[in-house]
Amino acid sequence: MGCAVTRVQRITVLGATGSIGLSTLDVIARHPDRYQVFALSGFSRIDELLALCVRHRPAYAVVPSSDAAVRLREGLAAAGCATEVLEGEGGLCQVAAAGEVDTVMAAIVGAAGLRPTLAAVEAGKKVLLANKEALVMSGALFMDAVRRSGSVLLPIDSEHNAIFQCMPGDYARGLGAVGVRRILLTASGGPFRETPAEALLDVTPEQACAHPNWSMGRKISVDSASMLNKGLELIEACWLFDAKPAQIEVVVHPQSVIHSLVDYVDGSVLAQLGNPDMRTPISNALAWPERIDSGVAPLDLFAIARLDFQAPDEQRFPCLRLARQAAEAGHSAPAVLNAANEVAVDAFLQGRIRFPEIAGMIEQVLDQEPVVPLATLDAVFAADQRARELSREWLRRHGR
Ligand code: NDP
Ligand code: MG
Repeated sequence: MGCAVTRVQRITVLGATGSIGLSTLDVIARHPDRYQVFALSGFSRIDELLALCVRHRPAYAVVPSSDAAVRLREGLAAAGCATEVLEGEGGLCQVAAAGEVDTVMAAIVGAAGLRPTLAAVEAGKKVLLANKEALVMSGALFMDAVRRSGSVLLPIDSEHNAIFQCMPGDYARGLGAVGVRRILLTASGGPFRETPAEALLDVTPEQACAHPNWSMGRKISVDSASMLNKGLELIEACWLFDAKPAQIEVVVHPQSVIHSLVDYVDGSVLAQLGNPDMRTPISNALAWPERIDSGVAPLDLFAIARLDFQAPDEQRFPCLRLARQAAEAGHSAPAVLNAANEVAVDAFLQGRIRFPEIAGMIEQVLDQEPVVPLATLDAVFAADQRARELSREWLRRHGR
């Protein structure tokens, strides 16, 4: 290909120690002629971050605290690695917006990723968005910032990357203008797809994290099990593709081979298929509009043999209904939904609440917290904080 690539792209990976971060580094390492790591961040897994620094030699590494920084600096010195260590959210925003950076992989989990991801957007970077919570919390502000800065925003979530691939290049003109009738958002149904409602009371964090098709971080694994993940994805799709919630239909497809579909007014339905391996959407977004090898095995349709589809069960998975309601209410409702869910998932992973209580807690917090417009980032974080406080109150009230 030679001359198409003018120079090596410098990449910051926020959340490098996580599942998406590691898959991103796997793809990057396959293409040293194209990509170079500029900065990596970690949070609790500092030894893993050290090993990644030794392997990828970034200019910067970011950790949350000065204790972690001391530990990482010692390790780097012992390994003869010249990586400079930065701390906290300021450090994350700095490596997201640095002049040397071309592309930022936003793969921190949860609300903690919002400010650094926005910093990358505001600096006009190519932003590969895995951190869906950031967009769910601040959708209107986030997309305004994308338009203002000219940042290129590419979805990493496998469904949204699939939809992006099935859309015409000029979809920003509006779904109606380009002949799109609806978006079909596929869902695996998670590990409890066939679990009876009564049995959901006793499921454990380990069972919730054992996803049948995907290997992911613990938070998104629980979200997939409750189907709140599909709800967050519905909201994410509304912002990315300027769609109304009613234009998005969730389709349970247990094999996770079709990653989503776009239905056109002429009756054509375009789908993107592939093995369930995040290196495909990551490679697609990294190289876009080109294509590169991702290391993912070719799809074997004969081995798959059949593809199944079902309607989602909102009785057993009320989180999906709650997310759709939040999407329709708009304004602060998605940020409140997200914050209540983060507290609930954390409590579930710690064994403090039962699985169905995740939905119960979110529903009460959504009922208690009025929907207000979010004109500034401070207003977003204020809504987030109020929802977290109401969620903690719920835990106290229930003696957890
Ligand atoms: P992981 O839990 O595996 O990784 C999360 C990353 O964020 C880690 O690097 C972690 O550091 C870091 N991190 C955690 N908390 C904080 C914090 N408070 N401040 C700064 N950094 C923090 O999650 P995944 O990689 O699975 O998911 C990352 C994001 O991508 C999520 O938003 C998820 O919804 C999205 N996503 C993931 C998919 C997947 O297949 N995994 C698919 C689609 C979307 P450390 O590990 O060092 O503690
Ligand atoms: Mg997804």
